[in-house]
Amino acid sequence: MSNPNENTPAPATPSDFIRDIVAKHVAEKQYPRIHTRFPPEPNGYLHIGHAKSICLNFGIAHEFGGICNLRMDDTNPAKEDIEYVESIQTDVNWLINGWADKQLGLKSKGKTPEAISGDGKRDFYLASSHQPTTNVEPFYASDYFDQIYDYAEQLIEKGKAFVCDLSPTDMEMYRGAPDRPGKDSPFRNRSIEENLDFFQRMKAGEFPDGARTLRAKIDMASSNIWLRDPILYRIRHTEHHHTGARWCIYPLYDFAHCLSDYIEGITHSICTLEFEVHRPLYDWILESLDLPRVLPKQYEFARLSLGYTVMSKRKLMQLVTEKLVTGWDDPRMPTISGIRRRGVTPEALRAFAYNIGITKYNGLTDVAVLEHTIREDLNKCALRRLAVLRPIKVIITNYSEGKIEELDAINNPEDDSAGKRKIPFSRELFIERDDFMEVAVPKFFRLKPGGEVRLKYAYIIKCDEVVKGAGGNLIELRCTADLDSKTGGETANRKIKGTIHWVSAAHTIDAEVRLYDRLFTEAEPEKDGRDFKSVLNLHSLEVITAKLEPSLKDARAEHRYQFERIGYFTLDKDSTLGKLVFNRTITLKDTWAKEAQKTN
Ligand code: ATP
Ligand code: MG
Repeated sequence: MSNPNENTPAPATPSDFIRDIVAKHVAEKQYPRIHTRFPPEPNGYLHIGHAKSICLNFGIAHEFGGICNLRMDDTNPAKEDIEYVESIQTDVNWLINGWADKQLGLKSKGKTPEAISGDGKRDFYLASSHQPTTNVEPFYASDYFDQIYDYAEQLIEKGKAFVCDLSPTDMEMYRGAPDRPGKDSPFRNRSIEENLDFFQRMKAGEFPDGARTLRAKIDMASSNIWLRDPILYRIRHTEHHHTGARWCIYPLYDFAHCLSDYIEGITHSICTLEFEVHRPLYDWILESLDLPRVLPKQYEFARLSLGYTVMSKRKLMQLVTEKLVTGWDDPRMPTISGIRRRGVTPEALRAFAYNIGITKYNGLTDVAVLEHTIREDLNKCALRRLAVLRPIKVIITNYSEGKIEELDAINNPEDDSAGKRKIPFSRELFIERDDFMEVAVPKFFRLKPGGEVRLKYAYIIKCDEVVKGAGGNLIELRCTADLDSKTGGETANRKIKGTIHWVSAAHTIDAEVRLYDRLFTEAEPEKDGRDFKSVLNLHSLEVITAKLEPSLKDARAEHRYQFERIGYFTLDKDSTLGKLVFNRTITLKDTWAKEAQKTN
């Protein structure tokens, strides 16, 4: 027998300038093993930009037989919280699910890291992930506070760091500006002994917040402002979510980050472009210490900016605290948890990360790219169901009262193995309000007075009468069915231009359906300094009660559904036994592109 996959071309391996660098290092055997990390600060929920970084870092480790650590970059206790630590862990696990268990170095309980081969490649992005996964346990920068403190003392002993008593305002004045050199702090030339003594007393809690800092002694005249004697440690009498009350001094990001990378044996420290100017400091700190092992190197790529979206955690936090959305996991949010709740699969998000690629130039990614990826993915896996969102009643006058037929319906035309199900047909049905026009425009191939349409999986019907109430409102349509026109019947193949969906009135179940749309009306919500909240889409959520085919009473959260001719839907966590709630993940077609065409 021939192999059905024989002619399928091998999937492309992701390729970009960072992977090229890593591939070169692998070829030159520069490192015993490639080691990356994803280092979020637990001060908010992860967003789709972080997903890009997660896919890049875990992807590279996977493709080159290496390791990727999840590390909480938790050096700022005032802004961090255990809730964020937990959500980050959940989101990373969800995104790399089915793949993490093949990862080494992930601090997974009871598992010893061991090398894997570099095969798989693109399947990380595109493969579906049904295997149970090992829970990825994070590393914490705060677990290294003792070591980082020791490194700070070593810098002092080498005359490369000093305790500074300048107030924050004075320090600002001394710093200079990008076009103007700074001035040396009057405390810069303290003796090593004095510096050590003060630093130890800072640690012991002798001084209040802001009284003193530890600073690197580099060059106040440097054209790179980050090299102008940057602060390494500050006093902050605040409890930390991971270390409790142990510390009252905390290292700053620049100091903790490169050392955490070193401590974990990271080889490629990959971050976004805004850190490019920090790179000389990253190298200076590591090179100023006598570190015996190979030093990590930093590489920068362009962050994801997405149309119709704000991305920074601070702004997303504002949407949450000002109750402009229902929470971090509101399905309109660009957070990983929001996207998940909306019904997007991890496979789609990984495919998106793959599709957009990695570059060195900041730019705006069209949200249509994300939407297209989601549709492609859901088209493959979603179970087809019939549901009517805005119902009108149809009576089939020539169909016996009380008669019920069970008709065959296909679960997924893209996947034969999904099989068929039965749907009940009876005299009284609901169809979509939009599928009927009393005075039809040309090329309207759905139902109109005197016109015919096919009911999906069932009969061809003809509209004989439009019944209206006293106020002229539409009450029901009275139709006759061509009773030989269903599958297997004499007129089954009669050509009819339109096919519409329906549900049997007596059998439907009501469900709350939440129709989500983009959160902003403008592609660049913050363009020209505009307040992003001024362009919130006031119609980003519409809640309706829809009529669903009865099989949906067994809907499951892990399944995706296509309500035929409408869009993709998923069960929301607000569902209860008595009341189903569905989220619309996305419409079947890009309705915004159509709108844009109209206005052009
Ligand atoms: P934000 O600026 O959105 O608040 P952040 O940079 O403060 O995010 P971190 O927790 O520090 O968030 O980010 C963790 C990692 O994710 C960093 O390596 C950072 O470079 C990367 N990252 C953050 N935002 C994006 C983005 N939009 N695209 C790609 N990577 C990102
Ligand atoms: Mg940051």
